[in-house]
Amino acid sequence: MRTKYFAEHKNERKGLSVFDTMRMLTALKKELTWLNEINSQSLQHSLVKLDMAFRSFFRHNTDYPTFRSKKDNQYFIVPSGFKVKKNRLIIPKFMDGIVYRDESSIPENIKQIFVTRDVERYYASIQYETDEELTRVDVIIGIDMGIISFLTTSDGVQVEPLNALRTGEKKLRREQRRLSRKKKGSENRKKQIVKVQKIHQKIRDARTDFNHKVSTAIAKHYGTAVVEDLSIHGMQGNHHLAKSITDQGWHRFRQMLQYKMDWRNAELIEIGRYEPSSKICSKCGSIRHDLKLSDRIYHCNVCGLSMDRDLNAAINIRNMGLIKVGRRTPEFTPVESATAAELLKGGLRVATL
Ligand SMILES: [Zn+2]
Repeated sequence: MRTKYFAEHKNERKGLSVFDTMRMLTALKKELTWLNEINSQSLQHSLVKLDMAFRSFFRHNTDYPTFRSKKDNQYFIVPSGFKVKKNRLIIPKFMDGIVYRDESSIPENIKQIFVTRDVERYYASIQYETDEELTRVDVIIGIDMGIISFLTTSDGVQVEPLNALRTGEKKLRREQRRLSRKKKGSENRKKQIVKVQKIHQKIRDARTDFNHKVSTAIAKHYGTAVVEDLSIHGMQGNHHLAKSITDQGWHRFRQMLQYKMDWRNAELIEIGRYEPSSKICSKCGSIRHDLKLSDRIYHCNVCGLSMDRDLNAAINIRNMGLIKVGRRTPEFTPVESATAAELLKGGLRVATL
């Protein structure tokens, strides 16, 4: 209707108002009964969003709003009218509610709820206000991101990559091959498409969960984290390596770590990759140019240091970060066992070095 109105009044460069469409909605509900299945707050909110898109088009010359079918709309917002009953989230017109499964209770002061659909599942994301203070801990660490270990911190916490991704991808390839053999337009093909989508979803969920657990633990236990600039481009020449990098979702992990550290006013320091963090001895500073990717232990011929290759790199990264911010190298940092304990509790494979 807004498009139709816009076409008829093109020269005036104005459209229907949000109130016009809300009035139309009331009338439309009598005509299109499916509109009554949905709570009115969400429907009105979608009109508000539509209005925002049109206003942005008129005022800021953004793209003309695109038409969305109810079939491909994968989310809706409940701006008000929801209730919390024990561990259930009650949305208007859905009185059974959604069971909330988490160790903590449903937060108070809910502002709005986003309901999204992913293949055949629905998720409710809760946006709420909180006075909770997120504190910054005065501990600095270096983080080495790797292929064999997902990451190693300079205080000796080593997180193993997720096996689930590998097995998931094998399964995915097999089901995709099956899909390619199904006849176009057939029922079996439709079923196979859902099957493939579900595997995708599972891999995605496992990866997101993993990244959240690791980034939360780090932001919580360290006030400053030093990481290497992920110049992935340089590594993409090696196909196998590039695949592992995408597997582990380094990029997404870094984004999560960044915003979680921002919440706490903590600092994520990036250092350039040109420093050969894995080849320098973290004790005496000499360089081993002959260190191979397969060498898991760093052994220094000058001072005799012998330690896990990634731990040595993480200590170097921390030290480079300290130089960058102009602080002195600390004498000794004990293993931050709280981080490892938290990750172990989350079901991750963690070692302390
Ligand atoms: Zn040395």
